[in-house]
Amino acid sequence: MITIHCDACSRKLFRYQKIGKGKLLHCWLARISSDHSVREGDQVYCTCGQHIGVVEGPWINLHGGSFTVRGSALKK
Ligand SMILES: [Zn+2]
Repeated sequence: MITIHCDACSRKLFRYQKIGKGKLLHCWLARISSDHSVREGDQVYCTCGQHIGVVEGPWINLHGGSFTVRGSALKK
């Protein structure tokens, strides 16, 4: 399980089940176990106003550089 934090204010945005080692480019909505983000339509923001990404169908397409990842992915 990893946690995804806002790069601007360090607040926790998501707890997320990441599988595999690659760079995190999008978050499957089904794998988010807790969600502290703010939605405006399909836009995803931190509570501080930082733009995090856009919901595109089954995942959130993350805006690179807007977040930091802590924790480790399952190796697979
Ligand atoms: Zn923030």
